[in-house]
Amino acid sequence: MVKFQSPTGMRDLLEEDFKHFQKIERVCQEIARFYGFKRIETPILEESALFEKGTGFSTEIVKKQMFNLETKGGDHLVLRPEGTPSIVRAYLEKGMESLPKPVKLWHFGPFFRHERPQAGRYRQFYQAGLESLGSDSWIIDSQIIQIFYNILKSLGFKNLIVEINSIGDSQHRAYYKKNLVSYLKDYRNSLCSDCKRRLRENPLRILDCKQEKCQKIIRDGTPQIIDYLCRKCNNHFKNVLETLEELEISYKLNPYLVRGLDYYTRTVFEIFEETEPTFLPTKATSDVAKAGARDTESEEEKNQEPLALAGGGRYDDLVKLLGGKETPACGGALGVDRIVNLIKKRTKKTRKIIKHRIFLAQIGKFPKMKALKLMEKFRKSEIKIAEALDKDSLSSQLKLADKLKAEYVLILGQKETLEEKIILRNMKTGKQKIIAIKKIVGEVKKKTK
Ligand code: AMP
Repeated sequence: MVKFQSPTGMRDLLEEDFKHFQKIERVCQEIARFYGFKRIETPILEESALFEKGTGFSTEIVKKQMFNLETKGGDHLVLRPEGTPSIVRAYLEKGMESLPKPVKLWHFGPFFRHERPQAGRYRQFYQAGLESLGSDSWIIDSQIIQIFYNILKSLGFKNLIVEINSIGDSQHRAYYKKNLVSYLKDYRNSLCSDCKRRLRENPLRILDCKQEKCQKIIRDGTPQIIDYLCRKCNNHFKNVLETLEELEISYKLNPYLVRGLDYYTRTVFEIFEETEPTFLPTKATSDVAKAGARDTESEEEKNQEPLALAGGGRYDDLVKLLGGKETPACGGALGVDRIVNLIKKRTKKTRKIIKHRIFLAQIGKFPKMKALKLMEKFRKSEIKIAEALDKDSLSSQLKLADKLKAEYVLILGQKETLEEKIILRNMKTGKQKIIAIKKIVGEVKKKTK
């Protein structure tokens, strides 16, 4: 017999995961709403061309990680690998360009990337994203970082550190790229095979390659993008850093942080959790020791590229690239699975017995039917009640009620059902009395006040 399994990198979310997902969504909603972000849900499938154009042909996501499909009608669709291009598509399609700026949107949902299977990295994963469209002010970058930071704080993360960099605007970045390529060309043969390709297609991405041999070359004197920023980009970045200091948000300059997507301009950031308390830096430092909450991780996780809790940046050219007016924008996404995994590891595993104060027992066919009907009355009165409707024996139902630490058990026998009555048994004293069914909800309400 064939045993079916969920597809590689995709998993079932059970109650013990789901309660964390819901809590994260709730916290995101509360904080995003406070800051004036409106909820948006875009479809799971989008046109492949949206990401090819938006995220970029040469990016790892588009090159290697998209789940593409062709519909019967011949449309080329893709399971969305990230949120920003979809949000921009919706912003343009729904005429949000005419709204007062910035237009602030937030979303929560699943994304799909054909990743190499590794602990903590899934092919279906969840993100909560924030996008602010229509302002080029540095204060927006700071606000986006502040909101992600606050969401993570509210979820119990303590020693957060923002890794931050500026990759300049597209115009000046081209000049930097040229210099980077001409520097790295001499080391071409020592680069990993991916970076050899990146040297042609996406040289910036070499900066955050995790292969040791590439790291060595990069850290041994590669030109740094920060030295190539124009005055405007430099001021923008300085203002963002100063605001973070004002907000007492710990940050670390990471001159090699580029984030893999083509559309980023100026500020890019990732948020990690450090194991040691961090203190506010007073000036930018180029110390780039990788931050990250890695104390609770398995050997496999420690040996792989750390996943940030959140990441994002500014994307001033994307709206125009996708057919809109020139619209500067900034946003980011929170890695929900990463957060859930960390929360779960930290929460002590104790099997909690959920107490039920009331248990409804029944004996026989008609009492079972009556019990099902009565449950609905309790639900409408918002009184929690446990049952074991599939069980027939009273003693096994009473045993279960005992296990659940029920204070009262309601018993529906054949006789009581015929007489429209029910037994109310106090489990502590063993005393019981017979009550009319129509009065039982009120009686229980009084007893459990
Ligand atoms: P990105 O969209 O790549 O900027 O990622 C934003 C956040 O989503 C990261 O910081 C991760 O926590 C999370 N993330 C990205 N890819 C995956 C994945 N394959 N599995 C789980 N989480 C992911």
